[in-house]
Amino acid sequence: TSVGVPRETEPGERRVALVPGVVERLCAQGLDVVVESGAGQAALIPDDAFTKAGARIGDPWPADVVVKVVPPTEAEIGRLAAGSSLIGFLAPLTDPELAGRLRAAGVLGFAMESVPRISRAQSMDALSSQANVAGYRAVLLAATECTRFFPMLTTAAGTVKPASVLVLGVGVAGLQALATAKRLGARTTGYDVRPEVADQVSSVGAKWLDLGISAVGEGGYARELTAEEQAAQTQRLNSAIAGFDIVITTALVPGRPAPKLVPAEAVHHMRPGSVIVDLAGPAGGNCELSEPGRTVVSHEITIAAPLNLPATMPEHASELYARNVQALLELMLVDGRLAPDFTDEVLAATCITRPD
Ligand code: NAD
Repeated sequence: TSVGVPRETEPGERRVALVPGVVERLCAQGLDVVVESGAGQAALIPDDAFTKAGARIGDPWPADVVVKVVPPTEAEIGRLAAGSSLIGFLAPLTDPELAGRLRAAGVLGFAMESVPRISRAQSMDALSSQANVAGYRAVLLAATECTRFFPMLTTAAGTVKPASVLVLGVGVAGLQALATAKRLGARTTGYDVRPEVADQVSSVGAKWLDLGISAVGEGGYARELTAEEQAAQTQRLNSAIAGFDIVITTALVPGRPAPKLVPAEAVHHMRPGSVIVDLAGPAGGNCELSEPGRTVVSHEITIAAPLNLPATMPEHASELYARNVQALLELMLVDGRLAPDFTDEVLAATCITRPD
């Protein structure tokens, strides 16, 4: 069985779907790994690191399984062999037509976004591994943009108060943001509409902001708020936000536009020099003033809405992602051959191209 690793072509995408350590493990199981020349270059992994791990450098597209990070382009779909499989982020909720195009090309598509969030599939959970990178990176970005210190300082020149950080939406990225901000010495507070998150927030040393709204949906995710709940939330957040130096937002509802949690008015009540980092940019953003993909300044408040923070830390982001892909591949292998068992709930959920 051959596994192809193409070079990612999306502008700014520096990750690669497999790293040498994982290639070595796969080759030891009898797989033939073919890596496109330069596939690891942007993640600082040279071709010869892949060949030393047992891969060949060549054309990855005719392989039995192609592994990618971001969804394939039209041209890339055209290069996939009929009867082959594709593993990667395939945007099943935001670009549902992609599954149809893959099916038409005779390709089995396995979407990393669709891996169920259950204990048994944790090692394959790429949403989580990449969200950890994004949450960490968001705090560093906020610290860089802020005109003030994060930690409390007691110096001969006087004492500096610690920064206060509010994280709105405490899933995987939000929890990592709270933990990272705490390590930098900030005072941290978390808010979410899933009440079960309160314990996780206190476990990373943060306060829980309780606005009295609970909205638990399917599969452990949040549901969209009703218009009434949303109005109440906006009003309560509006007054809470003003007291914070940093607001990091990560609130998402699968397949829906991101909830608008931070109205322009709330931004303008913050102290000049404060910073908002909005991780919900790909779904339209959580802040009314966010411009996805850009950093803007309004009333001396910096609002950053980066679209792909994991790609800015390509070494570890690729390493973690590659382990997620490896775990999924291993679930599909029987004696070194690809034989996905679709009665397995993980594979059934992850494969987005099978007829119902
Ligand atoms: P996500 O990226 O889909 O959303 C981020 C956060 O935004 C979530 O915590 C969500 O509750 C919150 N949110 C949505 N609407 C909001 C609103 N209006 N106001 C405030 N917050 C709002 O979440 P995620 O990080 O992908 O995690 C989703 C779920 O999966 C969580 O329950 C998480 O604990 C769970 N999970 C389970 C496993 C596992 O058991 N294997 C692994 C990872 C995550």
